Amino acid sequence: MGVLISSCSDDLSVQDDATPEAVVKAQASTNLEIPSTGHFDLESSGLVKDFDLKLQLSEVVEPSECGPTPFNEVANYYNDLLIDGFIAAWDGNPDAIGIILEDYFAINQIAAAYEGKNTDYFGEDGEYTNYVKNRVRSLEKFWDMADLIEVNGQHTETLEDLDFIRYIYENYSTATPEDIDYILEIAETFNTNSDQIPENPFFASDGFATFDRTIVVGDGIVTFLEDTGLDPKVVWSSILAHEWGHQIQFLNFGVWDYPVPAFINTPESTRMTELEADFITGYYLTHKRGATYNWKRVEDFLTAFFNIGDCGFDSSGHHGTPAQRLAAAKAGFNLANNTKKKGQILSQEDVHDAFISKLDLIIDGTIY
Ligand SMILES: [Zn+2]
Repeated sequence: MGVLISSCSDDLSVQDDATPEAVVKAQASTNLEIPSTGHFDLESSGLVKDFDLKLQLSEVVEPSECGPTPFNEVANYYNDLLIDGFIAAWDGNPDAIGIILEDYFAINQIAAAYEGKNTDYFGEDGEYTNYVKNRVRSLEKFWDMADLIEVNGQHTETLEDLDFIRYIYENYSTATPEDIDYILEIAETFNTNSDQIPENPFFASDGFATFDRTIVVGDGIVTFLEDTGLDPKVVWSSILAHEWGHQIQFLNFGVWDYPVPAFINTPESTRMTELEADFITGYYLTHKRGATYNWKRVEDFLTAFFNIGDCGFDSSGHHGTPAQRLAAAKAGFNLANNTKKKGQILSQEDVHDAFISKLDLIIDGTIY
């Protein structure tokens, strides 16, 4: 499948006195079909990806089924900054697209999930490290899961380290030493000449849980949500609570009963496990011994959170509609709120059973 690349700004229109290089760049940026040339083939079966922000490389993309939301506005803003920043530093060499706009994302995913590179701090300057560590301790205690789950940060700073980039190509791709020298020249050029590469938050926007007990949350996804006006601490807590829900599912995989099999990568299966993670999130965030947020706060946050485009109802990664996801979280809140003894924390199994008993209502959206 080809990729159309285009700038969203008009300042690259070709002038009569334009240099040949400017002409090439302008032509390429308006309508050039370029095959995908990424060097990594990432295994995606071992993890549940919650944020899969796709760069829109072209103005000629199909209109979003999700419609305009504050999140989409922020994402479009950073998207355009990145694409314009790429084009401004570009000499027209098509190979650069696969390296900067594809490989960089894969490299930072590998860094956070498998290499432990810069994973021990949260926020660009570690400003959320203490907060995240406390939240993780709270989740461990609440769900009785001490020292089971590793929570890793992800940062654009990682991609400034050219030696590390070289190491990743050497160990995770089939590129030859000559290829790698060539790739590194391109990487160095963009890292030096563009203030968006790799600084743009898109490059650290992962959020996922792996079956081998790791959670990754990138600074970028928090930046996007914070820029829509949300409290970053609530953002961290909610994403961690949701990813923790997936880890609980993984731990109980094969033991828990579901109406359709879990993690078989069909729309119905994915929607079910995602809605359960949202149910678990609603339960923990509002529980008196969990994050102790009131429902209104959680509702406001999740309404924005669930706006993160997932309108591909037929896609195997479908998370449920925003209304279904909010209904799942509300049902989790109801469970925490209606338990007779407020301080009681239900077992993972009991929370799962409660979710399954409400699943049809959640899907119908009749929880409210
Ligand atoms: Zn999820």
